[in-house]
Amino acid sequence: MTLSLAGLWLFGGLLGNGNGDCRASTEAGIRTMQSLAESWPLRFANDPVRRYIQRLGQQLVAEADLHDAENWRFFVVRNLEPTAFAVGGNRFVVSDGLIAFVRNESDLAAVLAHEIAHQRLRHFCDHAPTDAKRIRYGSIVQHFDLDTERAADIYALRLLESAGYNPDSMYEVLRCLSERPGAPVSQLQTRMRSLKPSFTNRANMPNIGNLEEIRTHILEESGTPIQRCR
Ligand SMILES: [Zn+2]
Repeated sequence: MTLSLAGLWLFGGLLGNGNGDCRASTEAGIRTMQSLAESWPLRFANDPVRRYIQRLGQQLVAEADLHDAENWRFFVVRNLEPTAFAVGGNRFVVSDGLIAFVRNESDLAAVLAHEIAHQRLRHFCDHAPTDAKRIRYGSIVQHFDLDTERAADIYALRLLESAGYNPDSMYEVLRCLSERPGAPVSQLQTRMRSLKPSFTNRANMPNIGNLEEIRTHILEESGTPIQRCR
């Protein structure tokens, strides 16, 4: 399968045909992740980039008071498009490109918090909205629905706050994406308008790992200069 992640950087979930059955959707998510692992260049479990993302994700899950945090898996795909999505079944994927693109760990936490929200808010269990925009790639159909995205943004904001990160990061990461060439600017700006950032500086934010080291590692491996958001 050709790995084209362009256009997936809206942070939509990869939603199955939801029919209210959460257990079936969990099993489907785990199966989807298994098939992605067979065909996509995912980083291995002991890779420093993967370990960092897994730690950051688990920290947020624990903060959200979700059970069995160790069963939540955060994967990293070697792809330079900045993207992240939830697969279902507590499985998530972020790209090298996203990690290299964000300004800081708080912004990266915002992306993960948004994806955790899709899982937490049962977006995989409930009916997919009929007007959802569908983006097909490989064998997966991505549903994109503005109301669902906004609900996940608002949940993420609260999770960032309780984890000690800057809640404005949700807004900032959407701004960063909206400034990229070819971005779906009006969709992203609609989401940004729902967030009302306070632009206050936060001191003593958590630091799960050294994002600068992780970023340097990605750049050295890929041999590609990746512009980051300012
Ligand atoms: Zn989303």
